[in-house]
Amino acid sequence: MDMYLVDVYLLFPLLFLFGAAWGSFLGAAAYRIPRRLSLVKPRSHCTSCRRQLQPLDLIPVFSFFIRRGRCAYCGNPLSWRYPLVEAAAGLLAVVVFLRYGLSWLFAVYIIMAYWALLLATIDIEHQRLPDVLTLPGILVGFLFNIILYLQSGVVHVTARMSVAPTWHLSWLGNSGSSVFWPGWEVCAPVFSPWHSLLGIVVGGGILTLIASAARGGMGWGDVKYLAAVGAFIGPGAAGLVLFLGALIGSLVGIAMMLLGRVNRRQPIPFGPFLTAALILLIIFGPYAAA
Ligand SMILES: [Zn+2]
Repeated sequence: MDMYLVDVYLLFPLLFLFGAAWGSFLGAAAYRIPRRLSLVKPRSHCTSCRRQLQPLDLIPVFSFFIRRGRCAYCGNPLSWRYPLVEAAAGLLAVVVFLRYGLSWLFAVYIIMAYWALLLATIDIEHQRLPDVLTLPGILVGFLFNIILYLQSGVVHVTARMSVAPTWHLSWLGNSGSSVFWPGWEVCAPVFSPWHSLLGIVVGGGILTLIASAARGGMGWGDVKYLAAVGAFIGPGAAGLVLFLGALIGSLVGIAMMLLGRVNRRQPIPFGPFLTAALILLIIFGPYAAA
């Protein structure tokens, strides 16, 4: 009978807190980057009264509830954006780990998911995707492909997982049954330098065509965003992200119009739907060999 020093379930709260701490940073970055403020100075503070936050204000997710959604010093309401982004980042760390284990793919996907979450948060508030995030994404995606290509022994042909993996299986990221992950590798992310280049051209290219044809609605920020997604996961997967994103966006748009929340002329940012699609692909999608 096997004996384990620690159970895998002990890891989940730690992973959640690790992710939520990054979520704290993402929430601050989503506020500061579009306003062209420094990411490091000044330290975290209330945006109304400028008081520097104390340790009790800096616990991801929980601080918001401890302080009942208000600044402890001036009483101004705090944005829901912070606890939401922190909780999302915490959950992503757990789920992406469950899927990929401790591997290069975990590193690539969690970085890509956090970058996408940051872009979605900014797009919701400002209706734009800053170049300072999308353009480096193209380069980083390409570099990751070189790393994964050189590490290609780690990348399996088909991913498998179960809901309740044990410690060692989860650690290796190869748990579970093939029932959940039938082989639909056509749209699977493929990691190689030339695939990445093709992803940039195809991802950016399709949206360039749509953006020029549509004249408005679709912005150049979306074009650069999808080019970067293509740089990370290749042309087929980038196409799938675009298709899924458009599908989710249409459904949400129709639902919001029916609920009277928006009218037909009001532009809805597309970035959050690309992000939702990308995260769905990371969690549920297939993955293929380099
Ligand atoms: Zn305050």
